[in-house]
Amino acid sequence: MRRITGTNLYSFAKCPRLAALDLSIDKKERREWHPWEEFSAKRGRDFEERYVATLGAEQPEYPERDFDAGARATLALMRQGVEWIHQGVLLGERRLGLPDLLHKVDGESAIGSHHYEVIDVKTSGRARGDQVLQVMFYTRLLAGVQQRMPERGGVLLKTEQTHMFAVADYQAIAADVESRVLALADDPSLARPFLQRGCETCHWSERCRGELEAKDDLSLVFGMSHGARAILEANGCDTPVELAKRHGDARLSHQIDPSLLRRLRKAAQAHVDGAPLMETRPRLPKNAPSIDDAAFVHMLMDPYADRVLAFAVRRPGGGGEEPQIDVVLPKSRNEEWPALRGLLAAVPSGAPLLHFDSTLPRWYEAHSYEREAEVGLSSRFLDLRRRLLAAAVMPAPLFALSDFVRVLLRREPLRHGHAGEAAMWAEAGLDERLAQKARADIEDLFDLKRRILDAAPALAQTI
Ligand code: SF4
Repeated sequence: MRRITGTNLYSFAKCPRLAALDLSIDKKERREWHPWEEFSAKRGRDFEERYVATLGAEQPEYPERDFDAGARATLALMRQGVEWIHQGVLLGERRLGLPDLLHKVDGESAIGSHHYEVIDVKTSGRARGDQVLQVMFYTRLLAGVQQRMPERGGVLLKTEQTHMFAVADYQAIAADVESRVLALADDPSLARPFLQRGCETCHWSERCRGELEAKDDLSLVFGMSHGARAILEANGCDTPVELAKRHGDARLSHQIDPSLLRRLRKAAQAHVDGAPLMETRPRLPKNAPSIDDAAFVHMLMDPYADRVLAFAVRRPGGGGEEPQIDVVLPKSRNEEWPALRGLLAAVPSGAPLLHFDSTLPRWYEAHSYEREAEVGLSSRFLDLRRRLLAAAVMPAPLFALSDFVRVLLRREPLRHGHAGEAAMWAEAGLDERLAQKARADIEDLFDLKRRILDAAPALAQTI
C-alpha cells in the first residue's frame, strides 16, 4: 500500500487530481521542469540551507530511502533533546513525514521533559492554507512518536519571520484531508482533471490537457465550476456541444441558477464556435475619459525578491506623434518608484492607465505609503483583464495573460519567454531579454484591447 506524504496534502489543497496522479504515476511521466522552475526551486533550497545553518540544526543519518532507519535515527536525536532537527523522519500507518525542522520546547512527553513542534520553511511572504495543512500532517505524525500533541506548528517565511498557529484550530480539517488523500492513494480515479488557474504550471499539465480535450470536458467552458459540471453531467449533459443545445430544460433550471445556466450555455456556444461572443457594454457618462486615449502599463516582477525588474509604458499617439513604448529596468528597490514616475511623466495627464490584473495597483498601493504619491494617479488605473472579461463571453477559461493572448489573439504568448524567467534573466544580466519580454507583453495588451474592446458592440466607447 502506498504511503502518503506531506507533499501529497499540500498538492491536494491545490488540486485533488494532482495528489492522485503524484500518488499513482511514476515521476518519469511528469513533464520536464523549465530552467526557470529549477532556478526558483534552487532559490528555495538555498534559502532553507542558509537559514538552517544559522540554527546549528542536526540531521539524522541513515541509508538513502531507508525511512525505518531514518525514523529510528530521528527518535534518537529527539530523546537526546537536540534543540533543532533538520529533515527528520516521522512514520505512521501508511504515512511518511519529512518535516524541514523539529524544534524542542518544554513540556513532558514520552521522550522526556521536553517535546517537539514542527516548523516548515517556505519562500512565500505569507502563510497559506496548503502550507498549514502540510505542517499539520507532520504534527499529527509527531504526536504519535512523542505521545504528545504539540500546541503549535509554524511556517517560516522568506522574511525569516515564523507564522505560528494553534494546532487545535486545524485538527478537524487536517484529519479530513488526510483521509481523502488516503482514499485517493487507494483509488486515484476518484479525482478527475478540471481546467483551472494552476494547470499552466502543473507538472501534469500535458497529461490532463490531453484528457480534457479528448473528452471535450465541460471544464473547458468559460465560467464552469466543479459544482455546475457535476449537476450538468448528472443530467446527461457531458460536453460543451450538448450544453449549447440545452434550451428550456426545466430540470436543469431548478438545479442551477437560471442566469448562471444562461451564461454557461453562451460560453459553451463560444467554445463550439472557437470565438468570443461579444457583449454590449453599458453607456457611461459623456465626459468620462475614452480608453482610446489610454496608455498601457506593464511590469515584470521577481516575486521571491519582491522586486520590479521591468516597467513598460505604451504612450498613446496624438498631436501627430506615433505611439511609443518605453521600458525601464530598475536595478534596485530604490529605483522602482522613480522609474515608474519618470515613464508616466511622458503620458498625457489624466490619460487612463490600462494594466493587466492586480499586480500594478497592489505594488502602487504598497509603495505609495512610503513615497510622494501623485494625487489621483491610482484612480486612473484600469484593469484590462476585468474589462475584457466583461466585454465578451470567452471561448475557453482564461486565467493568465498568456491564456488571453493564445486564445484571443491566436499568438504564441511565450515567444519572448515566460514571465517566470524574468528573475533568471536579471541575475544573468540579460537586460535585453527583459526589455524584449516587457515590450512584447505590452504589445499583446494593446492588441487585446483592439481585438475585444474596440470590436465589442459598445453603446459608448467610454469607461
Ligand atoms: S494539470 Fe490541472 S487538473 Fe491536472 S493535476 Fe495539474 S492542476 Fe490538477
